[in-house]
Amino acid sequence: MRQVVQDRQDARTRIAEWRGKGLTSCLVPTMGGIHAGHLALMERARAVADRAVVSIYVNPTQFAANEDFDSYPRCLEADMASIGQRADMVYAPVDLYHPSHATQVNPAGAALGLESEFRPHFFTGVATVVLKLLNQLPTDSAIFGQKDYQQLTVIRQLVRDLDLPVEILDHPTVREADGLALSSRNIHMAAEHRAIAPQLQAILRRTAQQLLAGTRPKTALVDGRDLLRRSGFTGIDYLQLCNPMTLQPTEAVTAEARLLGAVHLGAVRLIDNIALGDVK
Ligand code: AMP
Repeated sequence: MRQVVQDRQDARTRIAEWRGKGLTSCLVPTMGGIHAGHLALMERARAVADRAVVSIYVNPTQFAANEDFDSYPRCLEADMASIGQRADMVYAPVDLYHPSHATQVNPAGAALGLESEFRPHFFTGVATVVLKLLNQLPTDSAIFGQKDYQQLTVIRQLVRDLDLPVEILDHPTVREADGLALSSRNIHMAAEHRAIAPQLQAILRRTAQQLLAGTRPKTALVDGRDLLRRSGFTGIDYLQLCNPMTLQPTEAVTAEARLLGAVHLGAVRLIDNIALGDVK
């Protein structure tokens, strides 16, 4: 098992040493609660670069006061055991922020709408911490999951807009056998909610099929939301068809168009998405 690096300067030095030897590196940022989705990202990092770096940090600035920061899984030892030899360095700082931290990155564009309507603080927290991580860990590339599709799009936009010298890669969503997207939060789901949860992916697929069969987007989305409600989800934040680059709502039914959904099951909030072209 790897040793945990807590100090940003130690981490930076190690990446610089690799670079000095002509070795490339790829970063996998996580908040811990490591599951097979994270492990797939690490394996991809190892495939594209000589060295894989994993960061584990539950970022307080992306949680609102009423959200699950306190109950978010924190299990560094178990995480290290799961990661095993898949990473060459695990960076798990105690705190990333200076006590007088006073600078924020406020993304617009792809950050507007969807998640931001329900979690207005979220992308400012994400963009700020990702910029800090990319500065602290100057790897050649960094990899993010399609599971958090709006986040992935906002990070691509951040890197483009601020000219960050890193290549952003993405990886398809890793799912349970029944279709539920893996998430660190799934462990908090009650059994009766866990039984309902796969319906989110099933209804995204069904809605995509309807769209591809020619149903008008407005009608297909109303049907989809109705079906989510009837399946037992306790709240529906959104079900939206979006342009895959801008994340603006669209009526254009193309293979790349993205259907994104966010729902609640009791205290757990689930998000998922699908490209229309991914549906057979
Ligand atoms: P998190 O620890 O949930 O903040 O996620 C860290 C990274 O893992 C992000 O890039 C996520 O998009 C990605 N990720 C989380 N769950 C999955 C999954 N089920 N499949 C693929 N990537 C994932």
